[in-house]
Amino acid sequence: NRGKQNSVQEFVTKILEGNITFLSKAITLVESTNAKHQQKANEILEQCLPYANKSVRIGITGVPGVGKSTFIEAFGKHLTSKGKKVAVLAVDPSSSVNKGSILGDKTRMEQLVTDKNAFIRPSPSGTSLGGVAQKTRESIILCEAAGFDTIIIETVGVGQSETVVHSMVDFFLLLKLAGAGDELQGIKRGIIEMADAIVINKADGENEKNAKIAKVEFNRALHLYPLKESKWQPKVLTASALHNFGIEQIDHMIIDYITLTKENNYFYKKRNEQNKYWLLSTIDQQLKANFYQNEKIKIALVKEIENLENAKTTPFNAAKKLLNL
Ligand code: GDP
Repeated sequence: NRGKQNSVQEFVTKILEGNITFLSKAITLVESTNAKHQQKANEILEQCLPYANKSVRIGITGVPGVGKSTFIEAFGKHLTSKGKKVAVLAVDPSSSVNKGSILGDKTRMEQLVTDKNAFIRPSPSGTSLGGVAQKTRESIILCEAAGFDTIIIETVGVGQSETVVHSMVDFFLLLKLAGAGDELQGIKRGIIEMADAIVINKADGENEKNAKIAKVEFNRALHLYPLKESKWQPKVLTASALHNFGIEQIDHMIIDYITLTKENNYFYKKRNEQNKYWLLSTIDQQLKANFYQNEKIKIALVKEIENLENAKTTPFNAAKKLLNL
């Protein structure tokens, strides 16, 4: 079937034309563990890179059930109705082997999925969060080259996934639910610090009053933090993704943020720093992978562990010996 394979040039041309089939196929290559596929993906990425970078990248996080997919659908539809092109990607470390995905499930965004100006891609699977995230980051480039001007990265509050998503987006939005006055409990401090906005979802019906109280509390909490380098004061808004309330305000807020940070150059500075971070973390990952996948190391490692158990070596000596290999 070799003759039927599309060339790198064909891929690039089609992606730049906004061809979704080729975009999907290229992302599949990015996600593949096959060395040949990866090589091809890298060549496609390299040629797409000059056409990337021109979007607004938005990270959205929140616990399961908070309304992420409902919100992304409402927000996405709002954007496409304005003529925007929206790509939704996901970072879901739980989607690795056997666990099943909690994110990016196409059936959850039924309206957006049929919108020709939207592209929804579930989370790549992988054994490490770093690996999953790297693939998502590369997919961002491909989506941008295909003309998507808004990239939404969805993640769930599992382990370090928010931090990783934060490191690949311009704007980070935290979805929350109003509780009964205990808003600030059970929320990781680090996430609040990362958030450019907190949106209290399900602010409808009986919940509306609680949402307003929560808004005041979160606002108070956010003001305790020093002003960010972006000079942006994080905002708290209420919304109902289900009833389409507050969606337009969130769009306006993000536009304000982008305008401010482009004016004060923070937008570009942050993207540069993110690129540097991804360069270094990719090297990090690759070095580790090369090390642990090396046949000689694999055998020697077993032996050194045995030596360690028999008190014939120390952890430090063993490590030194293995690294020298
Ligand atoms: P996710 O797990 O964060 O993606 O949450 P979903 O979007 O799947 O929503 C979980 C449940 O909350 C679903 O039954 C939604 O219909 C419901 N839901 C989402 N947003 C709202 C909202 O704004 N108001 C109300 N009342 N329910 C909502």
